Amino acid sequence: MSAPASSMPPPVVWSIAGSDSGGGAGLQADLKAFEAFGVHGCTAVAAITAQHSLRVCRSEPVAPDLLEAQLAALAEDLPPVAIKLGMLGSVDNVHCVARWVDRLRRERPLALVIDPVWRATTGAALAASALREACLDELLPRATIVTPNRAEAAWLLGMERLEAHEVPEAARELRAAGARAVAITGGDAREPGGDGLAADWIDTPQAQGWLTLPRVDTPHHHGTGCVFASSAAAALALGHCEADALVLAKLATTQALRRGYAAGRGAGPVRPGA
Ligand code: PLP
Repeated sequence: MSAPASSMPPPVVWSIAGSDSGGGAGLQADLKAFEAFGVHGCTAVAAITAQHSLRVCRSEPVAPDLLEAQLAALAEDLPPVAIKLGMLGSVDNVHCVARWVDRLRRERPLALVIDPVWRATTGAALAASALREACLDELLPRATIVTPNRAEAAWLLGMERLEAHEVPEAARELRAAGARAVAITGGDAREPGGDGLAADWIDTPQAQGWLTLPRVDTPHHHGTGCVFASSAAAALALGHCEADALVLAKLATTQALRRGYAAGRGAGPVRPGA
């Protein structure tokens, strides 16, 4: 006899990302987003930042063997259905993660959502340019979904910036680079005379087009990108296709922005949840 649905264990989702000491972004945001979707979140710390709501004071990758140890421990007992990747901090950590994704996929299907974090919303550079190549060569070809904002998409494609009309072509190029689906988020792109909408372009095997919702005007948006990507990973783990996972992530992120709050003197965190 199968177990009643309520006692079914939740799917396991890993976040491999950076720690935000301020509690607003990175791993801390990812866990809150996982909780909101009812999946079990595990974390592997790839980088440590010392930061508050005004600035990143310091950022260091963890040693690759320490990342390796975390992933090996998790794999032994808590194998993932989906993984969200955020700030990895070093090229060696990218190699380590790519190896583990391949190893895990030999055992069972695994969705991989990549948030190519290179710049905190507070402005400090979070990843050196050497990471770009590693990201393109080793992560994009393994990605189920990649979720850059406009600035990150431009960076990945070696462009100075990305105008709205260039977004669909940029997404096509990122899919051509190996990602199964792409969402280029537009929350960071404020057009002069904008229409009050936050528009994300999705390019997936199921659907292609703009996802638009009213822009949430709030100074408390720290962690927005992290919540979007980890919500998409959680939705994939729950069995949704890429397009549906992105629609759910968009709704969850908009709601988290509406629930954002002040903490510290700068940009406060978004708050995932209903
Ligand atoms: N990951 C870490 C560890 C961070 O500190 C930040 C921003 O400070 C991010 C990711 C990206 O944050 P956001 O989701 O606000 O773009």
